[in-house]
Amino acid sequence: MDKIKMSTPLVEMDGDEMTRILWKWIKEILITPYVELNTEYYDLGLENREKTKDQVTFDSAEATKKYGVAVKCATITPNAARMPEYHLSEMWKSPNGTIRAILDGTVFRTPILVKGITPYIPTWTKPITIARHAYGDVYKNTEMQVHGGKAELVYTDKEGKEIRQLIYDFKDENGIIQGLHNRDNSIAGFARACFNYALDQKQDLWFATKDTISKQYDHRFKDIFAEIFENEYKAKFEEAGIEYFYTLIDDAVARVIRSNGGYIWACKNYDGDVMSDMVSTAYGSLAMMTSVLVSPTGIYEYEAAHGTVQRHYYKYLKGEETSTNSVATIFAWSGALRKRGELDNIPELMAYADKLEKATIQTIEDGIMTGDLYLISKLENKKKVNSREFLDEINKRLSNLMN
Ligand code: NAP
Ligand code: MG
Repeated sequence: MDKIKMSTPLVEMDGDEMTRILWKWIKEILITPYVELNTEYYDLGLENREKTKDQVTFDSAEATKKYGVAVKCATITPNAARMPEYHLSEMWKSPNGTIRAILDGTVFRTPILVKGITPYIPTWTKPITIARHAYGDVYKNTEMQVHGGKAELVYTDKEGKEIRQLIYDFKDENGIIQGLHNRDNSIAGFARACFNYALDQKQDLWFATKDTISKQYDHRFKDIFAEIFENEYKAKFEEAGIEYFYTLIDDAVARVIRSNGGYIWACKNYDGDVMSDMVSTAYGSLAMMTSVLVSPTGIYEYEAAHGTVQRHYYKYLKGEETSTNSVATIFAWSGALRKRGELDNIPELMAYADKLEKATIQTIEDGIMTGDLYLISKLENKKKVNSREFLDEINKRLSNLMN
């Protein structure tokens, strides 16, 4: 069999710890036997970020802008404990944060459903995709504790004129205050990313905020979405037979719980943070989620939603057996290769990506799975395998599908 050829390089961002090991094995066992892999490789492992003073992260994001599609391995976001471990000269920022800021993206996360693992909400028979705005609000806040006195919101316009509004007159009481912001441009980018993704997936889009209480701030989100939808997307949605629907966040939560899934739920930054953990837990596992960052200009970066699985890596280093779930990382590769195939018009590459996903799901539905799924699967004759055996089992099924 001839290997599938790629015309444009895929931006490959390698990462850290256990996921770095899985990364290498996935390529060796599941990809390179079938695809003449054409990637532009960036090593985002912490050692190389230190060596390049984090320049490699910026370079990889610029390359993603140039080529349009990237696949990223999980990476360490350094904390105090990592400074001596990796002899760091600086506590380098989260690569995901850096890449998001450069691509100005929205993160879409979708659970991967398999037989044998029932969501905690059994009526969720189709996946719910959370689209999280990844800029501003409480994640870029200014806050303080106050001890008596009066708090005011002061805005100085470009001509130097001040507008003051009373937040609260604390008088002799202690309390807390916080300032938030967002940018019309960022909200518009978020809206376009959501509308484009809904069209791409042919799924309805829901959006919700607390605009009845936040009559300026949250209402601005609602208005920007409505305006962009009317002017740029309404006709395309009608043509695709899908719907955009806005409601209050409390109403959205109630409807989501009663729904069967099968739509995209756009959330403000904080709502998306909290709701994506709720939704992924309800569907079973973070290792069974796809995650893709989409820019308003249609640039895609595929990744796993979980971290570097540090505890498993330390076991691996000691030569102990690990049973780490590689599904989210495999789906990051299949998502990126399929998108490359779509953009470059290579149907064999798209078909390969479909088969890789099918073989992965088939393996788990045949009862062969890693430890995390073994604990929650309701299949009767299930078997726990180690990290590498799981990939070999997927390849048995993949090679059948490829013949
Ligand atoms: P984590 O790597 O997601 O792992 C937390 C725990 O969840 C693991 O110890 C494991 O539980 C379970 N788990 C996660 N993924 C799994 C998988 N694929 N298969 C089986 N079990 C899995 O989170 P963390 O330990 O908090 O973070 C480790 C490092 O990852 C940190 O340095 C953090 O900065 C980084 N991180 C990176 C990203 C990213 O790049 N996207 C995201 C989050 C965190 P058991 O140990 O009980 O088996
Ligand atoms: Mg969170």
